[in-house]
Amino acid sequence: MTSYSSKEKSEVDVLPGDVIGVAEEYLAGRGVYVDDWGRIRASITGRAVIDRINKTVNVVPRKGVKFPELNSEVIGYVTSMRPDLVILDIFGVVSLTPRPRWLYETSGLLSGGIPIANIADEFIKDITDYFRLGDVVVARVVSRSHPFTLTTKSPLYGVIHAYCGNCGALMKFKSDRVMVCPRCGRSEKRKVSLLARSRGLPILVRKQLIRYRYPW
Ligand SMILES: [Zn+2]
Repeated sequence: MTSYSSKEKSEVDVLPGDVIGVAEEYLAGRGVYVDDWGRIRASITGRAVIDRINKTVNVVPRKGVKFPELNSEVIGYVTSMRPDLVILDIFGVVSLTPRPRWLYETSGLLSGGIPIANIADEFIKDITDYFRLGDVVVARVVSRSHPFTLTTKSPLYGVIHAYCGNCGALMKFKSDRVMVCPRCGRSEKRKVSLLARSRGLPILVRKQLIRYRYPW
């Protein structure tokens, strides 16, 4: 980690999920999202710029952006939820067959959306029974341009990492529709990827891209 700081500004290299500040103190700008506890987290890999004068936090992406293509399988964070759409920041391209592996990091501000009709082959009453803010999701690209349209209809696609809405711990796979918290025992509904059950991709994601930093 390299950092630079002065009274007015500090800069630090961050990975998706890193906590950069709290929403009470700073305005969340580009490349970040605010989690359920009001913490500002990086949604992309890059350099966090914390401006103490203007009270803003932004993450500037690394140079040399690589784009996903039609049918690319991607990993992203849920940064915003609407009743009919899940919005993600995409940070990596993977290949799931024959077995999960990383292809490359999309080191840019790439967005993707999963329209409610692309989530699963069933009637969806409440989209929050499928995804929540901050979830790490694997999905397939079904459009050719940015912002990308995504689908999670295959059992392989869906949530691979989710935080407990009660205590914030990382939850575990229970079924393709339920994740469970190992700390407080709470169960939450999700559209869970079958990969969340295996040791393959989730561990790779954690090692390479995500450093969880809990302030407590
Ligand atoms: Zn919990």
